[in-house]
Amino acid sequence: MIDFEALGWSSDTVGELDHRRLKAPSVKLRGVHAGAAGDIVYTVDLRLRRPNADACLSSTELHSIEHFLLEGYGRLLPRHFVGIGVMGCQTGFYLTLLGEGRRAVIEDALETILKGVLAADAVPYARVDQCGHWRHHDLARAQAVAREVLAQRSAWRDVA
Ligand SMILES: [Zn+2]
Repeated sequence: MIDFEALGWSSDTVGELDHRRLKAPSVKLRGVHAGAAGDIVYTVDLRLRRPNADACLSSTELHSIEHFLLEGYGRLLPRHFVGIGVMGCQTGFYLTLLGEGRRAVIEDALETILKGVLAADAVPYARVDQCGHWRHHDLARAQAVAREVLAQRSAWRDVA
């Protein structure tokens, strides 16, 4: 049995919640999956905008930030990072990690990545040989979103 509180999560916000209750920006443990050999996969919601609040990210913001998260989590948590995916509703991202489920580690990495967005002069993996829609990026808008999310850093644990 996983001790959610020891990992930094409130157990009453783990799993699927009524989307009318969700706050953003927030970092939320979605699920925990244990394999037969004891390895544990953690799925985490990085919610940048409130659902159903006419606040969703534009498709270029979503796309550029996805590239930064892909590069950043892969670099900062190389033994644990499995993948990042965009939420189709354009309010956030799905993060998947192997063997790392501590809120503080996940949030600190997110903070480092977003600070890197502010300092970046290009979107990672945005060349024609690396991306399936390589002109579909907007660094300035991604930086504006990163600034907004970083300004609310202390509220990321306020999930619902
Ligand atoms: Zn791309």
